[in-house]
Amino acid sequence: MVRYVAWVLCFFLVSLNSAASPTQQEQSVLLISVDGFAQNYLHRYKAPTLHQLAKRGVTAAAMQPAFPTKTFPNHYSIATGLYPAHHGIVENNIYDAEFDAVFRMSKAEEVRNGRWWLGEPVWVTAEKQGVKTGTYFFPGSEAAIKGIRPALWKAYDGSISNTDRVQSVLAWLDLPQATRPRFLTLYFSSVDDAGHAYGPDSEQVAAAIADVDQALALLVAGLKQRDLLHRMNLILVSDHGMVKVPQHQVIELDQLFDEKRAALVLWTPEIVSIFPKAGELESIYQQLKTSLPAAARVYKKAELPERWHYQHSKRIAPLLVVPEPGWRLMQKHKHQQWLAQPGRSEVTGSHGYDNNSPEMQAIFIGHGPVFQPGRQIPAFANIELYNLMCRILGIEAAANDGDPAWVDTVLRPGTTAVQAAD
Ligand code: AMP
Ligand code: ZN
Ligand code: ZN
Repeated sequence: MVRYVAWVLCFFLVSLNSAASPTQQEQSVLLISVDGFAQNYLHRYKAPTLHQLAKRGVTAAAMQPAFPTKTFPNHYSIATGLYPAHHGIVENNIYDAEFDAVFRMSKAEEVRNGRWWLGEPVWVTAEKQGVKTGTYFFPGSEAAIKGIRPALWKAYDGSISNTDRVQSVLAWLDLPQATRPRFLTLYFSSVDDAGHAYGPDSEQVAAAIADVDQALALLVAGLKQRDLLHRMNLILVSDHGMVKVPQHQVIELDQLFDEKRAALVLWTPEIVSIFPKAGELESIYQQLKTSLPAAARVYKKAELPERWHYQHSKRIAPLLVVPEPGWRLMQKHKHQQWLAQPGRSEVTGSHGYDNNSPEMQAIFIGHGPVFQPGRQIPAFANIELYNLMCRILGIEAAANDGDPAWVDTVLRPGTTAVQAAD
């Protein structure tokens, strides 16, 4: 009889264990963005912590950014699962005719204005469903979107050291369960900064990667100390890559068309958005079509390649000029000012170009209970991450451009009942 009871009890405990629902930690996500970390940096530069996370987690052959391969559009595609044309952050600089206003990353009052941010970022989806979130920087996280902000968020301040950012996120993980976030972000810009200033092959990029890796080592040690390293999920990504720009690869675009025929031109070296005055679209288009060198192309909105999914937004300009990777579009006077800059490197780096270009590809590393160590997955588009994060958090996703079936190809089989590894 005693033996029988023991067997029943044993069976009961085993079945309880295998059917256990995931714990709070297993259903948590720390999303880490290393801005401008090109896929091809991963094995070119020393980054012991990053390599260890990759070895013990799931890695992708590449993560494809959305077009244009810029910071704000791509962070917000990662957060919402939407292409930029659908989430409204179509560029780092945006003009909206209805607001008659321009959005720039440096204009805090616009960055914090929810009117620009369409769709639903994962922290809003989470908060709506009672899941606490905390963002240590992420484009969009400073605005009330659908009236909702992360429970914990920070005003962007690039001067805060990478290690201070890590310490703050670790402190959030020490909060009592009722207020502790289950979705968190961390953001580092130093690798992108070095890539722009000195190019992707520079010793400065190597140093910036080593520095971010040290911050990650601090994070890993802090998670280990809290017994969280294998109990919560880390998703480490970048927003886009970086390509070398030799100093002579400049097109003085303002010399090739009559700027007075445009009501507004949003100048960036990698994409120029032209809003022609009434009746001037065709004339500007023809001017550029005949004068542009082979390294750049002018597009009417309807001519933009389908694969960019970059058409159906009133914020996308009627005319766009896009150069080949490694080329820059500049106004003559800006070009001259730039040439005269003291201490300027002859080689610089940039991004924003065609999202098919190999140098623009981003990274993905998933580490934690839902990710099978050592697994490699094929390249995928960053709009898939929103569904993945919602699934891990156990929340219902809002409508998005990702494919929910993709998530099943990434998660460890039987994930919903997965037990934390040691
Ligand atoms: P990009 O011009 O696309 O290379 O943008 C990268 C820069 O965006 C970084 O160096 C930061 O200075 C800036 N940045 C990143 N996140 C934010 C943010 N949340 N708010 C304002 N600026 C940001
Ligand atoms: Zn970026
Ligand atoms: Zn950048």
